[in-house]
Amino acid sequence: DVTDVTEVVNQVYDNFKMIHPDFIFILDDDVHETVQAQIYRNHLEQILIILLDNAVKYSTTRKEVHLSYERDTRNVEIAVQDFGEGISQANRERVFNRFYRVDKARSRTKGGNGLGLSIAKRLIEGYHGNITIESAVGHGSVFRISLPILSAKAAKTLERKKQQAQAANNGIPGI
Ligand code: ATP
Repeated sequence: DVTDVTEVVNQVYDNFKMIHPDFIFILDDDVHETVQAQIYRNHLEQILIILLDNAVKYSTTRKEVHLSYERDTRNVEIAVQDFGEGISQANRERVFNRFYRVDKARSRTKGGNGLGLSIAKRLIEGYHGNITIESAVGHGSVFRISLPILSAKAAKTLERKKQQAQAANNGIPGI
């Protein structure tokens, strides 16, 4: 599917602002035109929700989250930055493992199973993208995802093919 990345980022950002009125969310966007990528809209939403949920969950003192995105000719990069507890170097790889949580005792208070980031990583890599972490313990973290974008022409061709396939299926009963 072809998804408008700018629109999804804005939508998820608006939702988080509404759900967490005690937080300051800042959307710092460099992209004003439409950016399209070949990804299911739900999957992109899911990835962003996981990152923003974590940013909120692991920020106890400074309740502020920055969301930014920029593109070059090939990729769009979306960054989610928090000013929370941060992640030590040793844990930066492990947090992508299934069921890994930095502080296990906390699971009772903060909920969660340690699955979110492993799902986000699998999803983004399934679309030939990637996810990275920059972090400083006690200062916060930046999670960046990068995703290949589609040119307007490629997006149109894909949409046309999809419509043709649908039209063909409609002609055959039972499909
Ligand atoms: P859930 O299954 O609900 O997503 P979770 O938040 O524990 O639970 P992950 O999203 O996979 O699971 O995160 C794994 C661990 O990485 C977390 O338990 C937390 O210790 C650490 N972590 C994730 N995001 C951040 C963040 N923004 N700042 C600090 N630590 C983080």
